[in-house]
Amino acid sequence: MNILVTGGAGYVGSAAARWLIASGHRVTVLDDLSLGHRAALPSDGVLHVGRIDDRQAVLRALEAGACETVLHFAASSCVGESVQQPRRYWSNNVAGSLALLETLIDAGVEQLVFSSTCAIYGEASDAPLTESTPAAPGSPYAFTKYAIERMIADLSHAHGLRYALLRYFNAAGASPDGAHGEDHDPETHLIPIVLQTLLGRRDRLTLFGEDYPTPDGTCVRDYVHVDDLARAHELALDWTAARREPGGEVFNLGTGRGHSVREVIRAAESVTGRRVPCEVGARRAGDSARLVAQARRARDVLGWSVEYADLERTVATAWAWHEAHPDGYASPV
Ligand code: UDP
Repeated sequence: MNILVTGGAGYVGSAAARWLIASGHRVTVLDDLSLGHRAALPSDGVLHVGRIDDRQAVLRALEAGACETVLHFAASSCVGESVQQPRRYWSNNVAGSLALLETLIDAGVEQLVFSSTCAIYGEASDAPLTESTPAAPGSPYAFTKYAIERMIADLSHAHGLRYALLRYFNAAGASPDGAHGEDHDPETHLIPIVLQTLLGRRDRLTLFGEDYPTPDGTCVRDYVHVDDLARAHELALDWTAARREPGGEVFNLGTGRGHSVREVIRAAESVTGRRVPCEVGARRAGDSARLVAQARRARDVLGWSVEYADLERTVATAWAWHEAHPDGYASPV
């Protein structure tokens, strides 16, 4: 397939782009490099630097790659930041996606896979979250992703789009070959912060709240390996391409296992044999107590399965990458 990947220099986007290139697909990346990294991609040749709301940039990238299908990752994606800067999220995510969809529809693109999030479920029950668990977004970030899901569904019927909406749980880990890993600036995600603390690059980890209604009082998340997510995108592209009718489906992508912040710390300590200095701080605005997937639909409909079911294995891949790249992609090779 010839695939345009928006936000393809970001963490999950570049994992998907690499995976698809390795599987023999023709990939064109559109990324404004505001958050992503050129070095996250296997070669410069695939990258077009530009924004999703720049119609000419999108058209040039589509044409350069003769793209018939699109993976849409480009977004601002930090829960805490979205509470502080909601305008940025509504502008980049919602207005940006609307502009992108208009360009794609005008260009005759009929297939789309959208990178969505489990944050849409907000404060749900203790049971694993299915795609029919009611949405209850708890932050501007989650609301913007939910709004885009709705936008895609609405436009699909009017414009013949076939789509898959992939609700990721917590993307984690690095590729086992050491070529791809997690590098955000600023870093806000738990596993890289824990590992940076273990590398001595931070004094301590601040644990955001210990008074949640969970077994040890810290938030529970479902950490899914980024290569498992990457593979799901290839399956979703195949599924979307095979659909006869306009419309699409939502798919949860998670392991089905929840781990608390304290369990993540223990996993990192076990992988590295070092102790994580840590202090307990206040809750972070927008955080949900527990987000754990039930991903049966992805298994049954897409044929997806999780290769990295064990948290320590996922953390070990991340540790290998962080040790080799203490400054992320800017580290000397
Ligand atoms: N977390 C934490 N300290 C940090 C970063 C994150 O305690 O320095 C917690 C955060 O409150 C959440 C969990 O770790 O409960 C996962 O956060 P992350 O930002 O990695 O992912 P999110 O679930 O927000 O997408």
